[in-house]
Amino acid sequence: MRPIIDTHTHTIASGHWTTDTATDLARAAAARNLQILAITDHSPSIPESATENYFLNLKYAEKYRFGVRLLYGTEADVMDTSGRLGLADSVLCQMDIVIASQHPVCFKPSNAEENTAGLVAAVSTGKVDIVGHPDDEKYPLVLEELVKACALHGTAIEMNEASLTPGGYRGDAKSRDAQLLALCKKEGVTVSMGSDSHGASHVGVFTYAEKLLEETAFPHELVVNYSKKAFYALLNEHRKNRGQKPLL
Ligand SMILES: [Zn+2]
Ligand SMILES: [Zn+2]
Repeated sequence: MRPIIDTHTHTIASGHWTTDTATDLARAAAARNLQILAITDHSPSIPESATENYFLNLKYAEKYRFGVRLLYGTEADVMDTSGRLGLADSVLCQMDIVIASQHPVCFKPSNAEENTAGLVAAVSTGKVDIVGHPDDEKYPLVLEELVKACALHGTAIEMNEASLTPGGYRGDAKSRDAQLLALCKKEGVTVSMGSDSHGASHVGVFTYAEKLLEETAFPHELVVNYSKKAFYALLNEHRKNRGQKPLL
């Protein structure tokens, strides 16, 4: 099986890490034979990332470039333990895809209970498709609690290629991710592989994420990157809660 979807990427709109545009990312996705590319720029809560108006205007952006279906969404910050995200709810509910992640600039790393409460509250809004990189050493988590919340709300747990790449900046992601995979298998929670490529260079590259799935004998049917049907089923569950029509 071959991944045909990248669920997590960033363009110039996310700030200073890259000057590549959505067109550059789409070209790279086509070159790597992806069928669907999710562009998930940082929410306005991250300094130097895009404004609300940028996200509002995405509805006018081209849905296909170089034959790749583009989904325009956000990697929204978890702001606190109330379920508040870094993009206004009215705008969030217009996104094709919503990832919720913790970044130190918006959610100061705390103890496992508080970090977990932040993610669980975000997931419990029913509007979050994917929990982004819950493998960051800076954020200890009560993994069972997070995975149970994801099971309840149909949210996927991300296997983040940037985290899993040796020397990655989130510490020892691999052992955390292996534990998460075991829990996801037990609870029937889906997993999404996201390159987290800032710019075009790593779009659609899942070398270490796929290696870990293989090493842990994780069932393919719980991974959304291999089929449009599985991926859209994940998104449609939350699109309903965001008041959007299903993707077909
Ligand atoms: Zn992130
Ligand atoms: Zn990201």
